[in-house]
Amino acid sequence: MSDSGPTVFLSVVIPVYNEEPNLPTLFARLYPVLDGLGRTYEVIFTNDGSADRSLELLRGQFAARPDVTRVIDFNANYGQHMAVMAAFERVRGEVVVTLDADLQDPPEEIVKLLGPIDAGHDYVGGFRLNRQDSRFRTWASKLINFVRHHTTSIEMTDQGCMLRAYRRAVVDAVVHSGAVNTFIPALAYSFAGNPAEIGVRHEERHAGASNYSFYRLVRLNFDLITGFSLVPLEYFTLFSLACAAGSFLLVLILAYRRLFLGAEAEGIFTLFGILFFLVSVAMVGIGLIGEYVGRTYQTVRTRQRYHVRELLEKK
Ligand code: UDP
Ligand code: MG
Repeated sequence: MSDSGPTVFLSVVIPVYNEEPNLPTLFARLYPVLDGLGRTYEVIFTNDGSADRSLELLRGQFAARPDVTRVIDFNANYGQHMAVMAAFERVRGEVVVTLDADLQDPPEEIVKLLGPIDAGHDYVGGFRLNRQDSRFRTWASKLINFVRHHTTSIEMTDQGCMLRAYRRAVVDAVVHSGAVNTFIPALAYSFAGNPAEIGVRHEERHAGASNYSFYRLVRLNFDLITGFSLVPLEYFTLFSLACAAGSFLLVLILAYRRLFLGAEAEGIFTLFGILFFLVSVAMVGIGLIGEYVGRTYQTVRTRQRYHVRELLEKK
């Protein structure tokens, strides 16, 4: 477990979900970079329930480089952040770098992250200099960035970038937090004492399509916002209070008109409009509360977060 103290300098953590076409290129580019560092390292792949031949390729790589390769095999798909978490629980390195398997984060950029680490920073976040994603993704990312900036105390230029380096103490804190629905870069940030940021290159996905559907992106970003602040809940309460006060005023005005001007049939649609608006406000609020309650439920029942089917590593 991660409590045994570091035995190598660098642990590279890579979640893998249906990355069969990317893995050969990843191996071919990543290992020479790491060999060239002149420091001890290990690479931990988590196979997050891939349905393709990813696991076979990982087995092959473990057979080829057993001294520096470890593979965690999940029985099912638990999501990118749980895959990273499982590796965090097992890292042996003093410094931990996370990377995507699809080569969107070029392995050559790892070297850049180690600069600030060597200079004494305990958290180095990458931000993508030339983002190579669909316009929708880039735009949605900007929006979420804005919301995060205004609702949490987390300061980062690009929360979506997984190319990051952490000192071991930060990783251990993440592991010990026992977080369930989480967004690792943000969680780790909250434990960092001296964070830094650095621009990294971004490439187009080498092959295949993003594993994130619109639905999964929305869920992930709810994890980010609800996981780190209660501000949405508080804003909603304030807004509801304002609405309630406004509605009360309206009722007073309507009562006055009814008493002194008599019944009015016109304006009924205005009333409907107001009613629909208030109902929708209530529904949004209930949904929001549901998000928190759901996460509370998942946290308090303390269920095992994921299941490891097999562990490939040299003792
Ligand atoms: N990933 C994972 N489990 C998932 C989804 C993704 O382990 O359920 C991995 C995936 O293999 C890749 C990284 O997480 O290494 C980022 O995924 P992807 O490239 O699909 O996301 P995007 O770059 O579109 O944000
Ligand atoms: Mg990607």
